[in-house]
Amino acid sequence: MQQTDPGRHAKGGDMNTRMAGLMFRIHERLLGRDTFKILGQLTRSQFLPRERIEKIRLSRFKSLVASAYEYCPYWRQVMNKVGLHPQDVRSLDALKAFPLLTKEDIRRDRERMVWFDEGRGVHIAKTTGSTNARLDFYTSASRESHITAARMRGHRWVGVEPGDKEMYFWAAPLELAVQDRIRQLRDWLRNDAFTNGLMITPRLARECVEKWAAWRPRCVFGYVSSFTTLVRLATQEKLDLTRFADLGLKAIITTSELLGESRKTISDAFGVPVFDSYGLREGGLIGHDCSHFTMHTNDEQLLLETVDPHTLDPTDGEGELVVTMLASRVMPVIRYRTGDLVTLGGASCPCGVSLGSIKMSGGRIMECIVTSEGNWISAVSLIYTCRAVPGLRQLQARQDRIGEVKLLVALEEDAPPDAMERVASLMRQRLDSKDSILLERVSEIPPAPSGKQMMVVSKVSHL
Ligand SMILES: [Zn+2]
Repeated sequence: MQQTDPGRHAKGGDMNTRMAGLMFRIHERLLGRDTFKILGQLTRSQFLPRERIEKIRLSRFKSLVASAYEYCPYWRQVMNKVGLHPQDVRSLDALKAFPLLTKEDIRRDRERMVWFDEGRGVHIAKTTGSTNARLDFYTSASRESHITAARMRGHRWVGVEPGDKEMYFWAAPLELAVQDRIRQLRDWLRNDAFTNGLMITPRLARECVEKWAAWRPRCVFGYVSSFTTLVRLATQEKLDLTRFADLGLKAIITTSELLGESRKTISDAFGVPVFDSYGLREGGLIGHDCSHFTMHTNDEQLLLETVDPHTLDPTDGEGELVVTMLASRVMPVIRYRTGDLVTLGGASCPCGVSLGSIKMSGGRIMECIVTSEGNWISAVSLIYTCRAVPGLRQLQARQDRIGEVKLLVALEEDAPPDAMERVASLMRQRLDSKDSILLERVSEIPPAPSGKQMMVVSKVSHL
């Protein structure tokens, strides 16, 4: 049912939205992207009976496997090795024949994984981050349009239409550095704008609030930590964040970090609902909250599995997320280990879509701790180990040199008195090393320059 929205007409936003939406369509067509056609398909398929969605996935999986075999030397080699021919794929169970794909595999064999003649706009996408965290990969017009359409569908669930004013409260330095004319034009066409969500100071918080009040976004999108920092500074500087709601703000959409309790903090401060989304540059849009705060999975474009991060055995919906991207034939992503801890759920939500759901249960893994015995311990397993300690709010391992690991620990106020000792003892157990472990209790762990909350900050490991 369509809901009336008096705010939209009172501000004259409807006309602007339609114009921006139209310009955006033209822009996408010029780039050879079928974004709006795909959005139309996704808008219909989300309500299909589950078996129809499974049929769509199987047909896409078959076509992905066929083109990977035909055009990507790496994948042909993998399939030959496991004895799987595209014609053998009769059900989604065939997926299990593929080995897990890691970031290291992609870094090592990337050029052999690509179908360079897949279609228009095949190019390498450079990711941001330190050398340790970087993972460059190939994309194309087709891949991008699927991701953009899925994102639009998610935004639509929470009342944000294509062409609505969206403020990117963003923190990726590379994105800001390359904000050249083309980018500005694109943003203008889409009705998007940028505010740096990185390194917010009291002065920048005031400027930010002024900018948003003048531009009147319908939606602001950014990292959780950018919003929580802004809320803290706004309280300190006595800035009123609820004014944006009067100026047309309908939703805040977060990404990339655990939202948790911050949802309420941000929502209370702005007086609008806060929705979460989960995307990976190498895996596309994985999930997006609906208006009932269920994070729905983008099932038509993905096959999702979970594995135990230690043993890599398949688990029943809880564990490290493994992604197969059905809509990326340019650089097939098949059974990719994301390093993210999640719980997958079924399709039952009052909003009525037939899509599954996902809950994030841990941070992102980017790096490892390296012990002097030569063991590499992933951040995921550190989270797994320490989540048993009650009252543990945030944890970050820092390693400047081999032989020493420093842990920053932020605890809740009601944490048991021995929480620090328990963290230390679990870490000692997990690292299984004679290296020294130094613990420092802090009130807050600051985000990385990229804006992300890192589990491990290392000058040692280079994945
Ligand atoms: Zn829902």
